[in-house]
Amino acid sequence: MLLTLTTTHSPATDLGFLLHKHPGRVHEVTMPFGTARVVYPDASEERCTAALIVDVDPIALVRDRKRGPRGRDASLEQYVNDRPYAASSFLAVALGKVFGTALSGRSKERPEMAQAALPFEVRLPVLPCRGGEVVLRRLFEPLGYRVNARMIPLDEQFPDWGPSRYLDVTLAGSLQVQEVLQHLYVLLPVLDDEKHYWVDETEIDKLLRRGGSWLAAHPEKDLITRRYLRYNRRLLDAALARLLEEDVVSDPDEEAESRDAEEAAVEKPISLNAQRLDAVVAAVRTAGARSVADLGCGGGNLLGRLLKDTDVERILGLDVSHRALEAAARRLHLDSMAPRQRQRIDLAQGALTYLDARLKEFDAATLIEVVEHLDPPRLGALERAVYGYAQPKTVIVTTPNREYNTLFAGLPAGSLRHRDHRFEWTRSELAEWAAQVADRFGYRMQISGIGPADEALGAPTQLVTFTRQGPPK
Ligand code: SAH
Repeated sequence: MLLTLTTTHSPATDLGFLLHKHPGRVHEVTMPFGTARVVYPDASEERCTAALIVDVDPIALVRDRKRGPRGRDASLEQYVNDRPYAASSFLAVALGKVFGTALSGRSKERPEMAQAALPFEVRLPVLPCRGGEVVLRRLFEPLGYRVNARMIPLDEQFPDWGPSRYLDVTLAGSLQVQEVLQHLYVLLPVLDDEKHYWVDETEIDKLLRRGGSWLAAHPEKDLITRRYLRYNRRLLDAALARLLEEDVVSDPDEEAESRDAEEAAVEKPISLNAQRLDAVVAAVRTAGARSVADLGCGGGNLLGRLLKDTDVERILGLDVSHRALEAAARRLHLDSMAPRQRQRIDLAQGALTYLDARLKEFDAATLIEVVEHLDPPRLGALERAVYGYAQPKTVIVTTPNREYNTLFAGLPAGSLRHRDHRFEWTRSELAEWAAQVADRFGYRMQISGIGPADEALGAPTQLVTFTRQGPPK
């Protein structure tokens, strides 16, 4: 079985330092089930490829099993199977062993490079994929990869026989080497949906160690955890509970609708929602944006307004919640929309705490009442994904002004406006956040208020317009 990892970051041969494997040598490691080798078929300044080749010895496997607790099942399948060829848990285990240091994020010679997002391409020529390309995309796209997959037919000579369960896959993206290795380590056995070893408690630790920082917010967290732990209910519950502690994005699906209604009721007397939309649409117009990504679009509140604005040619609504996207599709009548109108808008599921190539090349991004739904420690990931990676010319953010809350008659003292809000900022807290984000990512920022302003407490909603200073990096 084979996996190649290529970078075009210059000098590309530095990949050897990142992986702790010199490009000029063949590295060989003996595993209980065969041999793992790393070689570099391509090592120039411009492009460097490391190949991990794992030779699984099916006879050794059978022998191993006989030594184990159950010497059962002397069928032909033990000898004739796909394990020597298909990227599976064997490959993941070999990857963990051979690239252990890189996997834990360390690099002796190039520490700053190990922390940087670099252009990587991963090729898996024979990837078993339960659920097919759809599942493959659902697993890798939210992590920021462009996915290219070719179905491998059961027999190249007889296409009528239909597809095999294998795909020839290329994943490309700009990520840290550690992230790429972690994603493969966890997701290869998930795609294969098999494991060659017995799964127990230690598997939860492995999953959290390799997946902790990205899995908690992955939209397919449940599927990944379920398959990784081989559907063991007890392990699964324990793992999900631990992931929840790291969780970032609240799962908005369940109670979201009633909570939204609550927030609307609190703010209703001043029809803040309508004023907010007017202010955002005005800011989009002032920016002269022709394409807008509405991040955390929810039920499509702003999307409907943007569709009416004929200057905006391309609209993307992104949300982590599938239920919210379904509501948006219904509200906008996407399925009965005239084709020309329909072409202008896309809805997509994704988490804002991930780099997402789909968000690149928009003139403006809007975050309307979204940032306060993230746990403060995860805001940095959103900043990196939006300002650092997607880098739209304009970013428009709205968020409540906490100081104003005492003026809402329906809101008990000290509460936030929405049960899912993780925080609400005062005016000076917002100003501080916005200034440091602008400074770090090369934006200029301007803050204004939305709704009737109180002399002492300010306006109920705050709006920040960020404008990128230079060309995108
Ligand atoms: N912008 C909409 C919805 C605001 S509610 C409006 O003004 O009506 C906040 C929305 O952010 C919810 O739909 C929630 O699902 C989404 N959200 C929260 N955290 C997210 C994340 N990390 N990535 C993507 N969407 C997220």
